[in-house]
Amino acid sequence: MRKPIIAGNWKMYKSFDEAVEFAEAVREQVPSEDKVDAVICAPALYLPTLVDVATETDLAIGAQNMHFENEGAFTGEISPSQLASINVDYVILGHSERREYFNETDEAVNKKVRAALINGIVPIICCGETLEERESGQTEEKVSTQVTAALEGFTPEEVKHMVIAYEPIWAIGTGKTATADDANHVCGKIREVVEGLYGQEAAESIRIQYGGSVKPENIDELLSKEHIDGALVGGASLKVDSYLKLLEAA
Ligand code: 13P
Repeated sequence: MRKPIIAGNWKMYKSFDEAVEFAEAVREQVPSEDKVDAVICAPALYLPTLVDVATETDLAIGAQNMHFENEGAFTGEISPSQLASINVDYVILGHSERREYFNETDEAVNKKVRAALINGIVPIICCGETLEERESGQTEEKVSTQVTAALEGFTPEEVKHMVIAYEPIWAIGTGKTATADDANHVCGKIREVVEGLYGQEAAESIRIQYGGSVKPENIDELLSKEHIDGALVGGASLKVDSYLKLLEAA
């Protein structure tokens, strides 16, 4: 049985005070880590404080991006070893917004996945198709290419501990969700790709989230599907109430 993982992606929202207030409000209320992994991926500036607020609770803190080098002359970047040094547990990699607006390539995502593992950070690897790709029947090819590139060069044991987030770009922030059956179908295809690359055990262990307009009203149906092991949530993770509802559903 795969443990569900619900991760909030706050993107570039919330002031420092709002972020701390949120973490203080939820930290004692998140369900036990035995039942669900509850993660908040916050703006980098707030991470040290949020890690402190979440210490010894079942709330885990993640970053939204990082560089693949541990150090160097990369002005403005944050490194995997720097994140590890403040005890960040997760990092979102290859989000479609990073691919679209910051030219993040499949090759860079692959290097970041390796760097995350070396530093003991769980990567949440994003993939997903545009509306145009969906309408022209290229969804499976697109996610398969992205996942194959991101997962190149690992061992089955390493892959088992990764998380993949399937986020159709047309469903992000639009209020349009893929139907639970569609999302499950694509997540199942992703699992087949992992199986083809790393075998059955890795494919059965890796957790695959769905993301794109997930909210308390649709989470139950999504999570009831065989291949959907959780959700990566933008808008609905910004409010304490709805974030807690999403966790309860898991
Ligand atoms: P929304 O939940 O706001 O659609 O955002 C999804 C997302 O991009 C999470 O990474």
